[in-house]
Amino acid sequence: MSRLPAVWTTPADHIRAAVPDRPCLYFSPEALQATARRFRTGFPGLVTYAVKANDALPVIENLVQAGITAFDVASVHEMRRVRSVLPEAVLHYNNPVRSAREIETARVMGVASASVDSFSELAKLAAVFAPGTLEVSVRLKLAVPGAAYDFGAKFGADPETCAALLREVAQRGFTPAMTFHPGTQCEDGAAWVRYIAEAAAIARAAGVRLARLNVGGGFAAHRRGAAPDLEAVFDAIAGAVAAHFGKSPPDLVCEPGRALVADAFALGAGVKAIRDGREVFLNDGIYGGLAETVILGTVDRLDVYSAEGTARTGDVRPRVVFGPTCDSLDRLPGEVPLPGDMAEGDVVLFQGMGAYSSATLTRFNGYGDVDLVTVARTR
Ligand SMILES: *Cc1c(COP(=O)(O)O)cnc(C)c1O
Repeated sequence: MSRLPAVWTTPADHIRAAVPDRPCLYFSPEALQATARRFRTGFPGLVTYAVKANDALPVIENLVQAGITAFDVASVHEMRRVRSVLPEAVLHYNNPVRSAREIETARVMGVASASVDSFSELAKLAAVFAPGTLEVSVRLKLAVPGAAYDFGAKFGADPETCAALLREVAQRGFTPAMTFHPGTQCEDGAAWVRYIAEAAAIARAAGVRLARLNVGGGFAAHRRGAAPDLEAVFDAIAGAVAAHFGKSPPDLVCEPGRALVADAFALGAGVKAIRDGREVFLNDGIYGGLAETVILGTVDRLDVYSAEGTARTGDVRPRVVFGPTCDSLDRLPGEVPLPGDMAEGDVVLFQGMGAYSSATLTRFNGYGDVDLVTVARTR
C-alpha cells in the first residue's frame, strides 16, 4: 500500500478531484481513534490490538495516539512493525505454534505473554524463557455458536487438557493465564459468557489462580443491518467474570482486530465496465480488498458515486459483480443491490472495510495495488 499525504473530507471529495484508477482504501484516523476510545472506556480491562487485522503503520500510529500500548502479535514481522512505531510496546505473542527460532527472537524482544494449546509448545517456551519471565495463557476451545466462522478448528485445547496445561504452567514458574477466541464477527455476548464460565471451572479444577483472562478478539463490526452493540458484550463479559470468579477475579485483557479497525476504512472500487448493461466489473475483487466477502458476505453499507462525486440514487437492482482477475471465482457472492443508474467510471464505496482487506491482498493477475487515502470521515 502506498501512502497519499493529502487529507480529504470525504471519499466523494477525492473522487471528484480525480477518479482514482486503482482501488482506494479511505482511512479516517478520527474514526479509528474514536473506536479505540470506545473500547478503552467500555471494556473492563486492558485493550490490546490484534495486528493481523490491519498492520498498516498509520493504523498502529493512531491506535498508539489513542492510548493503545499492548498488541497481539502472531509473527516476528508483526513484533518488529509494532516496535518500529512504539519501541516500548507490550507484545502478547498469541499464535500458539512457533518455531524454536521464533521463540528465541520473542525472548530477545522481551515478549510479555504467550499462549499455548499443547504440552509440546509449552516445553519449547520453557526451553527459552526462564521461570518468572513470561505469562503463559492456556488457550481454550469450546463448540460455541455465534461467530461467523469457527476459530476452534485450528487452535485451542479442550477443558481437561487446559487444566493439565495450567498446572504445568504454574509448576514451571510462569504466570498462569487463560485465553480463548470466540470466533470472528461474533455478535452474541453469550459466547463470551460460556467461555468465561468454563475458564473459571478449569482454573478451579486445576487449583491454579489465573493472573489474567484474555477474552480474545471476535467483537463484531458493522457489516450488515444494525450496528452491533459492543457495550452489551462488554457488560456480559463483566457480569460473567463477577458471577464465575467470585472474590479474586483475574485481570481482563481483550485483543480485538476487526472491531477496532473495520469502521475506520471504506473501500472504493472503480467500475471498469458494465457488460452489455448487465454484469458489473470492478477493479477490486476477492483476491484483493474484498477477499472476506466470500466468507462473510458483502457489506450492505455501500454507495455508488459518479465521476462528479455525487451519489447515485436510482432504483436499486441486484447485479452480478465480478472482480478484475480472469478467475471465474472472482465474484462477490450472490447479487449485489446497486443503483440502476450507475455507469462505467463510477466508484462503489463499501463501508467498514478496515479489517482483513489490505492485510490479505494478493498480486494475482497483476492486481493488488490499493492506495491508502486519508479522509476526515469515510462517508
Ligand atoms: C485473529 C485474532 C484476533 C483478532 O480477531 P478479530 O476477530 O479480528 O477481533 C485476536 N486474537 C487472536 C489470537 C487471533 O488469532
